[in-house]
Amino acid sequence: MRIAILSAKPDLYSTQRLLGAIHARGHEGCVINHLNCQMMIEGGRPSVLYEGEELSSFDAIVPRIGASVTDYGCAVVRQFEMMNVFTTGKSQAIMRSRNKLRSLQVLSKAGVGLPKTMFANHPKNGDVTQLIKLVGGPPVVIKLLEGTQGIGVVLAESIKTAKSTIEAFYGLKKNVLVQEFIAEAKGSDIRAFVVGSRVVGAIKRQGLDGEFRSNLHRGGNAVSIQLTADEEQTAISAARALGLKVAGVDMLPSERGPLVLEVNSSPGLEGIETATGVDIAAEIIAYIEEKIKADEGDTVGV
Ligand code: ADP
Repeated sequence: MRIAILSAKPDLYSTQRLLGAIHARGHEGCVINHLNCQMMIEGGRPSVLYEGEELSSFDAIVPRIGASVTDYGCAVVRQFEMMNVFTTGKSQAIMRSRNKLRSLQVLSKAGVGLPKTMFANHPKNGDVTQLIKLVGGPPVVIKLLEGTQGIGVVLAESIKTAKSTIEAFYGLKKNVLVQEFIAEAKGSDIRAFVVGSRVVGAIKRQGLDGEFRSNLHRGGNAVSIQLTADEEQTAISAARALGLKVAGVDMLPSERGPLVLEVNSSPGLEGIETATGVDIAAEIIAYIEEKIKADEGDTVGV
């Protein structure tokens, strides 16, 4: 098979591990920087040009699209979809997962456990207090819609802090989510790595002392864990609801079961492979093999 990894950073651990797995399993692989791809759009013959040359056909792509280039990256993924190339992440699913509000709306309809969350358009002073009370606070967590790696996630312990934080974000013309604070999580969260319809590895991340955010980018550490049946089912349902075949599902343990925070469409491999010892890159490539084999089976005799 010929498999391309779409990545703007070929040297990243995840990119290199995926490339290694493609080669180790006997396939041809390469890294394509989606930012250097151009799309030729003409009737009946969509194609992708790379550094001026038309790309020859691939069996599959593995998109690793950074949050800052979601729109362009997804346009490239969509172009490959138009060319009937199999992708581990559909453009629409990646777009959906990148917006916290949109993801939570989809997850809520699917019945997945979530922290209670409010979204409102530039509320007036009195409305801010009401928003905070509606999610059971203070304390409340205030989040930018498109923040990543814990940046743009603020814990407001009082109505006063919550109000001034919300006002500061609105002043910058940024809409925010106001969310119930899950104190029982005690600065930890769970990342479940879903491939296909299975969890292939899970870690518990713990933030630094006094830090409520457990992101590894914020100095948190990770240990391998065995999920409860409820956590495993929640992770699988969340990835399925968003339409992602490869996903990092972040959940908070709570008194009312696992609550999903977000579903990441380009989850990093380093933290989870190091903590669990699972060859997640190989799991992803094995999944592609399985899907492509099934598709070939589908067309036999057609
Ligand atoms: P990002 O996408 O920037 O990582 P998250 O929504 O995942 O943002 O939040 C970052 C971290 O903050 C989470 O991993 C979790 O540890 C903590 N956190 C987020 N929301 C809550 C919440 N409602 N209650 C308690 N902790 C939270």
